[in-house]
Amino acid sequence: MSRVLVIGCGGVASVAIHKCCQVSEVFSELCIASRTKEKCDKLAAELSPKTKTKLTTAKVNADNTEEVIALIRSYQPDLVMNIALPYQDLSIMDACLTCGVNYMDTANYEPEDTNDPKWRAIYEKRCKEAGFSAYFDYSWQWAYREKFKSAGLTALLGCGFDPGVTQAYCAWAQKHEFDTIETIDILDCNGGDHGYPFATNFNPEVNLREVSAPGSYWENGKWVEIPAMSVKREYNFDQVGQKDMYLLHHEEIESLAENIPGVRRIRFFMTFGQSYLTHMKCLENVGMLSTTPILFEGCEIVPIQFLKALLPDPASLGPRTKGKTNIGCIFTGKKDGQNKTYYMYNVCDHEACYREVGSQAVSYTTGVPAMCGAMMLLTGQWNKPGVYTVEEFNPDPFLDALDRYGLPRSENRSPVLVD
Ligand code: NDP
Repeated sequence: MSRVLVIGCGGVASVAIHKCCQVSEVFSELCIASRTKEKCDKLAAELSPKTKTKLTTAKVNADNTEEVIALIRSYQPDLVMNIALPYQDLSIMDACLTCGVNYMDTANYEPEDTNDPKWRAIYEKRCKEAGFSAYFDYSWQWAYREKFKSAGLTALLGCGFDPGVTQAYCAWAQKHEFDTIETIDILDCNGGDHGYPFATNFNPEVNLREVSAPGSYWENGKWVEIPAMSVKREYNFDQVGQKDMYLLHHEEIESLAENIPGVRRIRFFMTFGQSYLTHMKCLENVGMLSTTPILFEGCEIVPIQFLKALLPDPASLGPRTKGKTNIGCIFTGKKDGQNKTYYMYNVCDHEACYREVGSQAVSYTTGVPAMCGAMMLLTGQWNKPGVYTVEEFNPDPFLDALDRYGLPRSENRSPVLVD
């Protein structure tokens, strides 16, 4: 029995809420709150006749901590699931601390306005110290570790697929397969086709900021940064086939470097088609990916936000997308003194996701782990005071839950390695 407050009602949240409603014995009451309440009302009306979970809705601007505090105080949840945008992570964490409630999210914090001078100074200091220049990183949320610990509250960060399940795969490999993990390659392949010349599979603004940033990887105890999209490899993915993939900076590299003892190298690759890259480069060249506001006919607009308004809503891609995703981790290392390789991954079918919950597989592969992570917290399996990433918890019950609720793992004991 639990009461959960979900903040956000977009592509990922919609899947997570669908899945929570399939597990009413854990998620007995759920409040869906977002900036646009009509979306929450529509989803609640669709799901209420099919579930025993008691659904209510609310309007909240989660940029405003006081509004979140007022909502938490009136609803009295056991857990807040933040499935809005990374920009809201800190204001929602602050509200959870004030109200004494556990917290979780699916992506680490990044400031919305990357040119805000107050933020810029912190960012430039971090770039110098850490050695990578992506806008998102864990330092903002790790700064809350002591506060959550002393309040006796748990904050679970980045519980989607990547970050999220990929870290559970690492914890699993560390626990069951290796004495020492030497290298980790995280491969994120989307073999889906939505038929549009250009669209992103999750929030366009967050997605384009992520993939247009310089790439980086962890090697021999430090970050190595490379120009965006400058390292390309080909890989033949199970059930998808041969794809081009590019090395990106990704948040879980940062926490895995801390939590997998002795790891020598961690890289993250994501597949992109040539059409996506050509569109992105063109948009970048003409300034459409900029986060700096400009004046247009007397009106202030942020180019990347304007672009978001023009692009297809990721939630609308569901009925059009065909094909599969394949996301997982390839490990090398040692077991009982012997060299060993191991690949754990999940394959997810866009059309099957749409039939089940009305969404494409990118939202599905993020929303299902969010539900399973919430379940770990609500059933007491992952509670420890402080701020943690997924690999810091026991992976076994989480991976069992994923197997059961739609994202079963596959494994390959002699995978082709990425050079
Ligand atoms: P969407 O843009 O589809 O949805 C975002 C939702 O948050 C919308 O309902 C939006 O409301 C709401 N929202 C935005 N700002 C506010 C605010 N200030 N107050 C309250 N609600 C707000 O995004 P996605 O569903 O695609 O992505 C959700 C999260 O999942 C993102 O953080 C993304 O980075 C993360 N993600 C994580 C992945 C992983 O594997 N870990 C993979 C993919 C995504 P409105 O409708 O009014 O705009």
